[in-house]
Amino acid sequence: MSANPKYNVDLTHCFVEEGSLSLPVQAFAGRVGSKFIISLRDQNKILGVKCPTCNKVYCPPREYCEKDLTKLDENWVELSNEGTITNFTIVNYNDRHLPRKAPYCLAMIKVDGADSPFAHIVEGVEVEQVKIRMRVKAVYAKETTNTILDINHFEPV
Ligand SMILES: [Zn+2]
Repeated sequence: MSANPKYNVDLTHCFVEEGSLSLPVQAFAGRVGSKFIISLRDQNKILGVKCPTCNKVYCPPREYCEKDLTKLDENWVELSNEGTITNFTIVNYNDRHLPRKAPYCLAMIKVDGADSPFAHIVEGVEVEQVKIRMRVKAVYAKETTNTILDINHFEPV
């Protein structure tokens, strides 16, 4: 009997090949997510959805209210391109999957009119100068990527 201590299994009748995978993937953004991205891309407008039951405004939009499960996809509201940093971190390492070279600021930003924040990049200010409650505005990308990065970044107002 032959055992591989790395896997702690009997490998007498197994052949194990080491390797790694890098798989490009595509996923449907959903009807709500698609409308959100298309509005960013074609009109440079940030949309949210407002719950008619509890009045919470979600941005990014979602199909159902997390509190009362009301369906929200017909209650669109246009929100401001300006907002407030509610939290942030400084990314200090490089990885090919990250959108910027380190160091850069990744912040939770609640745009005016929304009750929920979303994550985005803050530029136009030294990372050491970023503060919670800092006012920022969306700067749109010159070329679309059909993603949230159609807002290229936020910068101080
Ligand atoms: Zn609700």
